Parts: sequence; structure tokens; C-alpha cells
Amino acid sequence: MDIETKVKDRYERPTLSLRISITGRCNVNCVYCHHDGILPQKSEMTPDEIYQICKLAKMIGIEKIRLSGGEPLIRKDIVEITEKIASLDFKDISITTNGILLEKYVEELVKAGLNRINVSLDTLDYDLYKYITKSNKLEDVKKGILAASKSGINPVKINMVVMKDLNHNEIDEMFEFCKENNIILQLIELLKTESCDDTDFINKHHYNINELEEELENKADTVKTREFMQDRKKYYIDNGEIEIVKPMDNTKFCKNCTRLRITPNGKIKPCLLKNDNLVDIITPIRENKTLEELKEIFLYAINKREPYYKS
Ligand code: SAM
Repeated sequence: MDIETKVKDRYERPTLSLRISITGRCNVNCVYCHHDGILPQKSEMTPDEIYQICKLAKMIGIEKIRLSGGEPLIRKDIVEITEKIASLDFKDISITTNGILLEKYVEELVKAGLNRINVSLDTLDYDLYKYITKSNKLEDVKKGILAASKSGINPVKINMVVMKDLNHNEIDEMFEFCKENNIILQLIELLKTESCDDTDFINKHHYNINELEEELENKADTVKTREFMQDRKKYYIDNGEIEIVKPMDNTKFCKNCTRLRITPNGKIKPCLLKNDNLVDIITPIRENKTLEELKEIFLYAINKREPYYKS
């Protein structure tokens, strides 16, 4: 299926990628966390159930799977989950992790079929890391990043949430670290969503990414726009690469969103920024509904998709 024939929502946006929160549990407690919209659940989806969901995703033309959470590497069956998904032959399987357990798993994950890794790391400063995450595992994260960068997996990216008066002055240092280790730096706007724990923090530290974009535009040797990746900008500077993710009040981000999400309790989530339009897929799977019936549920969820910020 090419993009023209993909399943599209009512706004003509194809559905190309699926981000699955395979657990709501996490081994850090970030001060700004939006929990991908959902709080920890008692029961998690099994590897077989996750496989079923991916099989349905494949049937409707989804090309890319991203595993997230919570912290996905907290699941002891993470390698089995990756292997099962890889057997479905997607264009791309990736993971977003805080990196604490990455050194332990990276080789096995690559063998299992993982194609890309994003490690969330906002600072290289030990005190600030502790303040943001309530954890003192920065050294483990660095080891994980280096192991990933040596594993041959490409690309490895660092997700850095930019926060005013906390780490916005650390971007150059982080970029140097990335260049040294052949890593792409992804700068993320601090987001306010319904499920953030501390909205005062978000208001206080929200950083205007537009200013940063101007600065990068001036420094960059080349600038590219990734149309089917929410119109993200990529800046190529001194043999390094910086990407900007700017969802807030961004009609282009929404217009070009091609992503569907699955919550840790098995619900299809049509929009990152909304929690009131979830569609249960795990109950029908557990009730052994037919593939056709399950596919209809996916299509129903896609039909619920609409841009959060409309032009
Ligand atoms: N535990 C994994 C990790 O740390 O990458 C995956 C889950 S975490 C929710 C996924 C990404 O969302 C991380 O890069 C994190 O920095 C980002 N994130 C969480 N809350 C955010 C917020 N309020 N604004 C911007 N990014 C946020």
C-alpha cells in the first residue's frame, strides 16, 4: 500500500505509525510527565495480545511500530515482545526509553529486530537529572546510550525536553555529546496535557521553541522538513543533526500527524492530547472477536481522529 491508498481519517491524514505503551509502570518519576495520557494499570497486555494488535495494525497498512510506556524496558518480556512484532515485517520498529536498563538489553533487542532507539535525557548534569527524574541513575543512562551507539543500530536519538531556566542553556553541551557519539538530538517542547502532574511546573518552565528554531536556522548548513512526521524540522549543523518536536498550538503538527496510540490497558488513543475518545481493543481481543470485527474497531478509532489544533 502506498500513502495514497492508506487508510485515511476524516481529515485525509493516512495512519502510518502505531505507538504502543506496553506498560504504565516506570522506574523514574519525571516532574513534567504526561504519562502518555494514562496512569499505571494493574494488568498489562501480554506479548501475544500486543502481537495481535500489531497484526491488525499491519492489516490496515500501518508501517511503523514504536514501543513506549511507562518505561518499556521494565518489562522482563521486552525481547520476546520485540521478536514477535518483528516477525510481522514492519518497515520499522523503534523504542523510546529512559535508557537506565538499555545497556543490559540493547544487543538482544537489536538481534530481536529493533531498528531504532530514542533515549530520553534532558541533562548531563547529575543534580539536575536527579531533580527532573527523582533518580540517580544518570551514569547507567550514559552507559546505555554508549552501548546503543556502539550496537550498530541507527539512528540512536536523544529526546531532550527543553525547559526554561533548567536546561535551555545546556543544548550546546548535549549537542556536542550527541555528535561525539553519532547520535541525533531531538529537542522537544515541554507540553501541557490533561494528564501532567504539575501544571505550575509546566507553565513556569515552558520554553518558546520558536526562538530556538530561528537560532538553529541561522546556524544550520541545511534544513529539511519531515512532512509525514508531523512536519518536523531537521537541522544539519557541523556534521551533527538536530530535530525539533513542537506540538503545542501547532496546526501543522496536527495536520501532518499520522500516528495512532495504544494505552497500557489496551485502548486505541486517537490523539496524544486527548483522553476522552479512547476505543477499547483489548476486551474484544480477549473475547476472541474475528479479525474482521477487530479491524472494524481499528477503523472506527481512526475515524475518531481529528486535529487537536485546527487551522
Ligand atoms: N519511559 C520512556 C522514556 O522516558 O522515554 C517512554 C515514555 S516517556 C512518557 C516518552 C517521552 O515523552 C519522553 O521523551 C519524555 O521526555 C516525553 N514527555 C513526557 N512528558 C512530557 C511533557 N510534559 N512534555 C514533553 N515531553 C514529555
